[in-house]
Amino acid sequence: MTILKQPPDYSRSLFRPTKVLVEEEAAGYPLTESIIGRLPDAEVVTIKRPSSEELADLSRQFGPRTTLYLARHRGRFLKACPGTAESYRCCLYQILHLALGCNIGCSYCVLQGYLNNPFITQFVNLDDAFAELDRELGRPGIFYRIGTGEFTDSLFMDPLTELAPGLIDYFGRCKSAVLELKTKSVAISGLLDYSGEIGETIVSWSLNAPRICAKEEGHAATIEERLTAAALCRQRGYRIGLHFDPLLDFPGWEDEYRQTVASIFTHLKGDDIIWISIGAFRFMPQVKEILKSNHPQTNITAGEFIRGIDGKQRYFSAIRRRLYRFLVAEIKRYAPDVFIYFCMEDQYLWQDTFGFAPADNQELSHWLDKCCYRYYD
Ligand code: SF4
Repeated sequence: MTILKQPPDYSRSLFRPTKVLVEEEAAGYPLTESIIGRLPDAEVVTIKRPSSEELADLSRQFGPRTTLYLARHRGRFLKACPGTAESYRCCLYQILHLALGCNIGCSYCVLQGYLNNPFITQFVNLDDAFAELDRELGRPGIFYRIGTGEFTDSLFMDPLTELAPGLIDYFGRCKSAVLELKTKSVAISGLLDYSGEIGETIVSWSLNAPRICAKEEGHAATIEERLTAAALCRQRGYRIGLHFDPLLDFPGWEDEYRQTVASIFTHLKGDDIIWISIGAFRFMPQVKEILKSNHPQTNITAGEFIRGIDGKQRYFSAIRRRLYRFLVAEIKRYAPDVFIYFCMEDQYLWQDTFGFAPADNQELSHWLDKCCYRYYD
């Protein structure tokens, strides 16, 4: 394998706010101070915690694309992944809720339908987050897979927040959990420079067809850049996860996905990869209208869909089946033993694609836990 030295240029996926809104409660926290210190030219405005009407006014006044919002999180930091409809197999992932929103701008981003705060928001009370983790992860007999990339991209803001090293350090010492940082950026300098115990931190990239990356993924890093970053992280000792989500049906998809799979294995070996997840495109019905105004150029919701038991629009199962069978066969050509799983898919398609299916969510969760093998040696 080629020895890579330089991280790719991540400037396109870097968030550089020109304004910072600081809730009064968030002032004085070390993270607030350090973020503001890294933005010497930004206008900093301290505000009272706003009502939703006031938030809308602030959005008109400041412009969410160029403003970072700093707040103190009052609720729980650790939450079950929202993808928990009983009819589909869910891996029982936990989310560490440290930030909200992302500036990468994927047309299909589910956050467009979920978030009512228009600003990219960083929670600054990390002491509360780590105290909650101490309490939760100290419970005997429970193993956690925890990610920070469900309500945001885990790394796009890391050059600004520099949170990754502290998280890696914490989870590197933790015997009952692994951390997954999931991204479409290549903002990995903090990961490469980190000199402590990496433990089982997993760095994961969402992948797609090159054409989808170019048309639908805003200013995310290219597939080649993501995979170069993955190879660098692997070289540094991180384990690598890959996520094909959303898998899209479009003219020429076979060649495009074939190309991405081939690229993976020019950068990584099968046993560098802890898991690959696959999830076909799905969306809440209201997102269709939001896309018309946020991404008028996209036609990803133009095909025929059925409404799933979770209320989301999905491709017909025959289309999902074709996509899955093709992608799994391509991956297995290069890496027959890599663990592949579906995100939110039904038993029938599991069985049809793999010849086996998890009996329930706990079984799928256990399979993924087993991938984090250090704890099961
Ligand atoms: S990178 Fe993820 S969080 Fe950011 S816009 Fe794209 S889908 Fe949304």
